[in-house]
Amino acid sequence: MSEKAIALVVQGGAGPISVDSYTKNRPAIGDILRKTAPMLVEGAAALRVVEEAVRLFEEHPSFNAGIGSSLRYDGSIQQDATIMDGASGRGAGVGAVKGIIHAITLARYVLERTPHVLMVGEWATEFARDCGMEMVPDERLIVPERRELWKRKLAAKETPDDQVLSSGGTVGAVALDTEGRLAAATSTGGMVLSLPGRVGDSAILGAGTWADAHSAVSCTGVGESIMLVLMAKVCADAVISGMSPQEAADLVVRIQGEKTPGTSGAIVVDKKGAVGLAHNSANMYRGYFTPEEGVVVPN
Ligand code: ASP
Repeated sequence: MSEKAIALVVQGGAGPISVDSYTKNRPAIGDILRKTAPMLVEGAAALRVVEEAVRLFEEHPSFNAGIGSSLRYDGSIQQDATIMDGASGRGAGVGAVKGIIHAITLARYVLERTPHVLMVGEWATEFARDCGMEMVPDERLIVPERRELWKRKLAAKETPDDQVLSSGGTVGAVALDTEGRLAAATSTGGMVLSLPGRVGDSAILGAGTWADAHSAVSCTGVGESIMLVLMAKVCADAVISGMSPQEAADLVVRIQGEKTPGTSGAIVVDKKGAVGLAHNSANMYRGYFTPEEGVVVPN
């Protein structure tokens, strides 16, 4: 085991998660940590590890990203994602992209292959095609449970205004590697019933995702609320001002709850490998790995 401080924290979405759903999907959090933590131990870059953890979530049908994404008001799928490398201070995102499983990898391609920070809509989808990504129909990304939820909400005459009541879920990861580099990644299918073209916090650096030389942060919850308090950047700045990752996560979740409607959660790691996990929603899929504690997934 590496003697240098390393850490990995993952989240699979905050919101009104029932006890049954949490119990059913909790093992997947441990599985993803057990698959990706060894990469960190073996010296992989934090950026690579957070991307891989998010890719595994995107492939898992129970989480709202990639396969399992929420349906928009019109029944379509659109995805947002961001990735940020704290060592270089560079990051990139994609918004309202269609037809791919791994929006997080497209965000990495924007980071590594373009001078841009954010690409959206059909042009970002075209860029995915140019990068050789596998293009898939919405049917491949829609799972029966998400379609049922969408149908139930439409039948109950819910509208995009009601989305604040039911966060859709997001997936994310933050890591510290053996070289002391921090990175963060977040990916989402967005909020059920949101209007096509709506872009949430997971596409916006500083809102859903941030990484710098001091910490890395990934947020989940109602994007409209998270964007208005720039949750990830405020959290990272709180770490710079001397707070522990746990204090900073608690702070930004509290600020979000006081200033904007809806609920949220945040995961944080700092340059010493200390971790923070907080949410003000009913629950949040979450877990972490440190060399001292191993894989920890709260009950
Ligand atoms: N933050 C995501 C969004 O607003 C959804 C979520 O995390 O539940 O798109």
